[in-house]
Amino acid sequence: MGKFLNALFIFCVCCGIVLLSGARAIATPFDLPDLPYSYNALEPHIDAETMQIHHDKHHAAYVNNLNKALEKYPAQQNKTLTELLSNLDQVPEDIRSAVRNNAGGHYNHSLFWTAMSPKGGGQPTGKLAEAINKSFGSFEKFQQAFEAGGASRFGSGWVWLVKVKSGDKPGVLTVTTTPNQDAPLSEGTPILGNDVWEHAYYLKYRNRRPEYLKAWWNVVNWPEISRRFAAAD
Ligand code: MN
Repeated sequence: MGKFLNALFIFCVCCGIVLLSGARAIATPFDLPDLPYSYNALEPHIDAETMQIHHDKHHAAYVNNLNKALEKYPAQQNKTLTELLSNLDQVPEDIRSAVRNNAGGHYNHSLFWTAMSPKGGGQPTGKLAEAINKSFGSFEKFQQAFEAGGASRFGSGWVWLVKVKSGDKPGVLTVTTTPNQDAPLSEGTPILGNDVWEHAYYLKYRNRRPEYLKAWWNVVNWPEISRRFAAAD
């Protein structure tokens, strides 16, 4: 579907010239967010070509395919990504798997870009650090669990740090993995996720996914993850 340009024309009374005073893009239900930094900002840990293809081609395709799937169902277009993904049984059956894959892809990648920063790395502080220590024993043990999850996810998918739904376990964190573009919304709120699809690392790391998982800590944006931890449920 793409974007429509809504141009505002003004007719100049003194010279008869029609002026284009402004052009506004009207959004289709979902839009590709800009990368919050340049393609090469995460080098040497993630190379510019990978970032460009990953964002401009892969993520863009999820957004386009999601909008295309929703075209004939206007009622579905007013839902948020989490509403769509958390209630897939309420999505018409003929577009359900397209929505699952492409809303999931859009949701996961939107979380992914902002989970990273050229000023990333180091360790979390404050309440998030406390919760990690309480849930895993130490930051190092959390890293080991996360890397092991990402390395052992067969085929394509994601490894996540999830804040478990409150109730009996308020504030508890867990590491989990999902296949394809599934998001772990039934378990709680994903606050950090690493993409272990080959498209995320293959140009630089080839078959060495564990090396990519280790290098990735250098770009994790802990202040943003702390913010998500505090905001979750
Ligand atoms: Mn990806």
